[in-house]
Order: sequence, then C-alpha cells, then structure tokens
Amino acid sequence: MSSVVLLCGKVFDGASETLSGPMEILVENNRITSMGWTVERPPGAEVIDLSDRTVSPGFIDTHVHLTMDAANLARQTLESSASKALKGLSLARAYMAYGFTTLRDLGSADPDWPTIDLRNAINAGVVRGPRIIVAAHIISASAGHGDLRGFYNPRWTLPVSTIADDPASVKALVRREHVFGSDWIKTTNTGGYFSPGDDPARVTWFDDEMEALTSAAHQLGMPVAVHTGAAEGCKQAIRYGARSLEHAYLIDNEGLAMAIKSGVYVVPTMQMTQEDLRSLHEGTLPCQAVWKFQRDNEKIVASQRLIAASNVKVAYGTDCGMFPFEHGILEFQAMVGAGLTPVRALKAATCVAAEMLQQADLGVLASGKIADIIAMPGDPLVDIAVTAKVDLVMKEGAIYRRPGQERHM
Ligand SMILES: [Zn+2]
Repeated sequence: MSSVVLLCGKVFDGASETLSGPMEILVENNRITSMGWTVERPPGAEVIDLSDRTVSPGFIDTHVHLTMDAANLARQTLESSASKALKGLSLARAYMAYGFTTLRDLGSADPDWPTIDLRNAINAGVVRGPRIIVAAHIISASAGHGDLRGFYNPRWTLPVSTIADDPASVKALVRREHVFGSDWIKTTNTGGYFSPGDDPARVTWFDDEMEALTSAAHQLGMPVAVHTGAAEGCKQAIRYGARSLEHAYLIDNEGLAMAIKSGVYVVPTMQMTQEDLRSLHEGTLPCQAVWKFQRDNEKIVASQRLIAASNVKVAYGTDCGMFPFEHGILEFQAMVGAGLTPVRALKAATCVAAEMLQQADLGVLASGKIADIIAMPGDPLVDIAVTAKVDLVMKEGAIYRRPGQERHM
C-alpha cells in the first residue's frame, strides 16, 4: 500500500465557500483516507510540504477536443486515427500538468474512435494520463455546426461528419455512439462561429429531431451535451432534456430561468470568446467566422454577464483544440472577468463539473473520495490568476507533477 501525507497551508475542499487550513491530508492508494489538523503517518508514508500552497480537488475541463486540430482540420484528416490518438495523449498529459485530472472530450472529426481508444488505454493503465469522459462524435443536422463538409473540397468522400436529417436516422446515430463506447452524446442544435455555411443565431434541429436524439440517448442512459448559440436553441435544448448547454452564446434571461428550473448546466467557454476577439482585432479570424463574430461579439459578452449574474450551475469548459491547450487554464480568469466570484469559478472546475459528469467521488476533498489533488502557490480567492501556477498534480493517489518540476511531461 502506498501512502502520502500532504501538509497543506490552505485547502479549497470543493464544497465550502471559503478556504480552510492549515490541514493535513492522508492519501492511501487511490483515496483520501483522512483529513484534519493532523493525520496518522503510516510507516513509509511520503510527506509532502505544501504549507505555502492552496490545495484543491483536481481541476475538470468539461469541454475539450483532443483529436481535433481546428487550425489544420483538413490536413489532419489525412492522418490515421492512431496518429490522432497518440497526439491526443500527448496533449492530455501536457494539459494535466496544469492541474486538469479529468477531461470531457466532446467530439472528434475522425470516422473511427480515437478518443474512445485513448480513454480506454488510460483507464486500463496502458498509458498514464488524465481521466477522460468521451462523446466520440458530434451529431448534427446537415448544414448544422457539426456538418464539417464545408471545410473540404465538395468531392471529398471520407466521412468527416456525423449527420442525419430525420428522427429515425438521428436515433441510429445515437445508438451507434453507444455501441462503440461513448459516455455522452454530443450534438449541435444551432450553427457555430468557425464553421462555414451555418449561423449560430439559427436553430438547426427540428423539434422532432431533437426529441428523437435526447429520447434515444436517455433510453440508453446517456446524458446529452448540446452546442448551442441562439437563445431559442438554448431553450429547445432545455425543453428536450439536455444535461449541459455548451457555449450558450446568446442565452437570455428566459433561457437561464429555464436552465435553473430544470437543473441544466451551462458551460460558457468564456476564454474562447477572448481568443476570438483577439483574432478578430488582429485580422486572423477565418473569413467564415468574421461576419458572425463581428455581428455577435457584444451580444455574447452580454450573455456571459447574464450567466454570471444568475445562479445557474456553471461548469468549467474551454473548447481547447479550437485554440491552444496552453490557454485552457485562463478560463478561470475569463470567468472572473465576466463577473463570477472566484469561489464560483473554482467550484465550476471541481464540484459542479463532477456533479454534471455524475462522478460522485470527484470534485471534492473529503475522506473516502478519490485522491485527485492539486496545489498552487498563493490564495486563488484573492488572486484567481494563481490557478495558472499549479505545480503539484496527483491523480488517484499517484503523483504526476511535483513542485520544482517543469510542466512538460
Ligand atoms: Zn467544442
């Protein structure tokens, strides 16, 4: 049995509104076995001094794309699925060094199942990396955001999109995701900004198609994540039983009230908006995105302020893959910039994300929970930017990064 004692200066336990500490945490094998002013030191236990640090549950990013290189989408199609899985593993491990011990991957453009293989290899202990929860493909209407054909020559025949245009075909796609191991169903019910040939302000599923998708998913016990933009798209997703709204770019107060009433989570990907604003000003935003983002960017920021001002359940998600993973940690600062309190931003990446993912043993520090534990210098409730300085990363009791070690792994 391996045991580690962490001597913590301050502790954010994922449940409280304030920090506690000093405190000691005993980790035995993969779980926390006790926490308190002082804990037992089993023979041979490693003791790690974190007395000048804040200790937190491992961060959870609920919206990434490990095998989707947005800047090189067409070129990436020429790579094998195995190549994408290996590169995805490398990204996942590098990202883990920032403190992310759990990721939800929301879709690959690969017709095969590289993110499923990646998840399974990590779970089986074949390779080391963060825990990954997977929606393998993005189910969309044709001409919807998940219809990626507009990125390619019209004569291109390799299937890059997972598209359907009637309820029966939508159900078949959901069932296929289940057969090959998806944990979640990902769909898009409005257009998006980066995709050619669609508009985030327009809904792309008819109600009967959306209903077919969620009912088929729920029959199989799968939660549904919906990429959505238009206020009406947010409402359609809630009405038909989505568990999470991704982006919710143009959500209004009525939609937020519906989300609160139904217990639906919002993953507002606020850092991506900052990245897109910078690209717009630098003139590097792809042309198909410019007119949409120019029209909507103020509305998106206004919706983000409404989200912050409401008490909707906000979960941390970035859309990394659409922009570099090195910037994913900046979502904390973007959230606080939009008006979330620092503690709500921390909860978004810990207890709220774990609850959304139905992972009862993650997202909080308490005796009996899985030992996914990170540490950062300073006090994140005073300065949220210290979240970017995580230097101890433990997943299931195993240490992946120690203070003094470089970030690359
Ligand atoms: Zn995404």
